[in-house]
Amino acid sequence: MENKNLHEYQGENIVDFDVGEIIDEYLDEESRPKTVGAYYPSEIGMCMRRSYYSYLYPKPTDRSALRIFALGNNVHAFLAEALKSSSEFSLVEDEKPVKIVYNDASTSFTIYGRIDDYVVTKSTGKKIIIEAKSVGEISKINEPDPKHVMQIMLYLSAEQADYGMLVYADKKNLAIRQFRVDYDDIVYTKIMTRFKDLDYHLKNSKLPPAEYYFDAKKVWECKYCPYFSECMQAIANND
Ligand code: SF4
Repeated sequence: MENKNLHEYQGENIVDFDVGEIIDEYLDEESRPKTVGAYYPSEIGMCMRRSYYSYLYPKPTDRSALRIFALGNNVHAFLAEALKSSSEFSLVEDEKPVKIVYNDASTSFTIYGRIDDYVVTKSTGKKIIIEAKSVGEISKINEPDPKHVMQIMLYLSAEQADYGMLVYADKKNLAIRQFRVDYDDIVYTKIMTRFKDLDYHLKNSKLPPAEYYFDAKKVWECKYCPYFSECMQAIANND
């Protein structure tokens, strides 16, 4: 069957449905539009201009990216099952919802998140927030990604916990690297300032700076950005 595409294969072996299409339809149903004023911890470390575009000019997520996210979710589900089966913990809660409401004289918004796993150790009673991330190549993970630190820091601010743990799992072989994250008020304040900044730009229809394009360490991510052409046009117009 080598070098034959699915269509040819179907020609020789008549089938009634295409599993790939079923997966894509299912993943399309899972995608949801975003509302200004409702923000997400997983986004705040990303390029603010990209987040801005995703609220005001949403585009469907690329199907291959949706399939990769789905694989990552499987890794998370497996990790949650493993934690629940362990005798180390007196409590394991997965997908624990978190809601942070922010109000000041000029604005209000809500941050919605989900803690991957919240565990309490049996021996010490320590409460630990676990955020799992699936990666393509674990050997490249030598330190936690600042985006992920921001995400878990918000959870640490919202839930009583002794510390957080970022767990990276290799999608190929489930090799693991884990990093402890302690609550830091300065980092938390910076994150909330970013949310306020995003909120301000969205509510006033002001395009935020092209953060990644002007950051030598992050500009490589621009080539995967769905808003690349809009952003480059805006830069050309000095926006
Ligand atoms: S192209 Fe780069 S700078 Fe522009 S919105 Fe996308 S990630 Fe941000």
